[in-house]
Amino acid sequence: MKLMLHVAPGIVRYPVIASVILETGALLNIERASIDAVSGEIVLEVPQDKCLVVKEAFERRGVKVVPLEIPVIRDENECVHCGACVSICPTSTFRFEDWRVVADSGKCIQCGACITGCPQRALKLVLR
Ligand code: SF4
Ligand code: SF4
Repeated sequence: MKLMLHVAPGIVRYPVIASVILETGALLNIERASIDAVSGEIVLEVPQDKCLVVKEAFERRGVKVVPLEIPVIRDENECVHCGACVSICPTSTFRFEDWRVVADSGKCIQCGACITGCPQRALKLVLR
């Protein structure tokens, strides 16, 4: 599953991801990272069986952790199945199925590209 990390000022310069990997033995995959000198926002793919220990390990280090269980939601009344989000999304969250756009939310890394790309404004991010 995917976890969103919000790394606060004061700890952004410490190797928190490396130390959590060493502590938990979890194979963490960084899927998106936006980090500067004072803060950071990181999306990790974490093995399902390690989610809880990894979450707790980050929280002990002062990192706010949000599980991305429903990362993006779509207003079905607004969506016209135009497919713009299919071509925009870098992780193939959306696809056509019988001429309708369907979503596999488990692939979303909350980059936000589809939000601005949807002509209907039918998409929004949650838990961000
Ligand atoms: S871009 Fe918006 S309107 Fe078009 S298929 Fe995606 S969610 Fe629906
Ligand atoms: S925010 Fe939208 S474009 Fe970005 S990964 Fe999620 S579904 Fe794809």
